[in-house]
Amino acid sequence: MKNKTIIDRSLKSVWHPCSQMKHYEKQSLIPIKTGRGVWLIDFEGKKYLDGISSWWVNLFGHNNKIIKSFVNKQLNQLEHSMISGMTHEPVVELSEQLNHLTGLGHCCFGSDGANAIEIALKMSSHYWREKGQLKKNKIVYLQNSYHGETLGALSVTDVPIFRKHYGQLLKSHIQVNSPDIRLKKKNETVKEFTLRRVCELKKLFEQKSERISSIILEPMVQCAAGMGIYDKKYLKEVRKLCNEYHIHMIVDEIAVGFGRTGKLFAHQYAGIKADFLCLSKGLTGGYLPLSVTLTTDHIYQAFYHQQMDKGFLHSHSYTGNPLACSAALGTLSIFNSRDILKDNKKKSVEINNLFENHKNLPIKNFRNIGMIWAYDLDSNIDINKITQSFINNGVFIRPINHTIYFMPPYTINSSEMRYMVKASEQSIKQNV
Ligand SMILES: *Cc1c(COP(=O)(O)O)cnc(C)c1O
Repeated sequence: MKNKTIIDRSLKSVWHPCSQMKHYEKQSLIPIKTGRGVWLIDFEGKKYLDGISSWWVNLFGHNNKIIKSFVNKQLNQLEHSMISGMTHEPVVELSEQLNHLTGLGHCCFGSDGANAIEIALKMSSHYWREKGQLKKNKIVYLQNSYHGETLGALSVTDVPIFRKHYGQLLKSHIQVNSPDIRLKKKNETVKEFTLRRVCELKKLFEQKSERISSIILEPMVQCAAGMGIYDKKYLKEVRKLCNEYHIHMIVDEIAVGFGRTGKLFAHQYAGIKADFLCLSKGLTGGYLPLSVTLTTDHIYQAFYHQQMDKGFLHSHSYTGNPLACSAALGTLSIFNSRDILKDNKKKSVEINNLFENHKNLPIKNFRNIGMIWAYDLDSNIDINKITQSFINNGVFIRPINHTIYFMPPYTINSSEMRYMVKASEQSIKQNV
């Protein structure tokens, strides 16, 4: 099969996500045949470095031997059985390991990130009902937040284009200003700015805590906002406020979980515990869709009752699928076999050194945390042209508005790092 054939067939039959289909008349769709490590390879043998780990999921690259062996083994054992009225080994083993890693006690499974968010939002509000607090059903979310695209998740997502088209389908919740440090005033320190945001939140909680069930946030980095990094102090203070005003803290680590920011879980920077923790994306290392919402024993106990209708209600056909759980166990086994966070720290320093040359380029807000790099470009720059240059230079990226970012697989080696950063330098120089 040739590249062109598969592109033509795809454009006739597949409705591609996060795309204006008409744009594919001009911008080419990249047909991928195979993957190896950080590389994706098309039908004619051209290689692309996967600069964003295929939407942040392929933590350990493509065609990963270890994860593959876990899935393979499970394939010969049991491909699927439901976990309502039954259970199986992979789901038990995975739940135990996740509970141990997070200090939470109970795992509720879904099939994708948005699912995990729906579960957390429903569970929080259902909890308050069980406690007789029927009015506690508003959710606080941050400016520029992203929590997924099902209707519940969208109702706490602040992306203007979604609001424009689907706002009529959404419940209204309460938005607060983002602690993203790019939003601070020039004469303000990061600390002053962060505390100002905390004060705003405190005022809101003071006035409305009787109506608020939870606050949902992406810890340390608002990724879909264009890698908006904020101070860990914000998380610490939000935790305190949540305790004070009896509001659940829902921590969405779907993007940043499993080492992306330098800690296994980003909220660990603040030394706090969530009431609900949502995980997906990197959980299965890009092998199979799976998500999980973890919660505390305290919340779990509120649903533990003789009556069926006191139980939590949320099910999916593929909940806790054994193959997906085994892929997740493969991912966790890689973390157990080596000190990945330590290796990543070294890689992070190495990549930062390579980016030194970017200081002389017309870019803004260069930033890094763990294995995430980002910079912003002027809004008059044609971002599609830049993206095309990156692709011509052999690196696949997907900018967010005018932010270029990199989230390479953790398996990236020194020469691949140079290749990635060089492509960035060239792509900017060729266009700006
Ligand atoms: C991707 C993402 C989601 C949604 O996950 P899907 O699997 O795409 O539904 C939710 N929250 C965050 C922070 C994400 O990055």
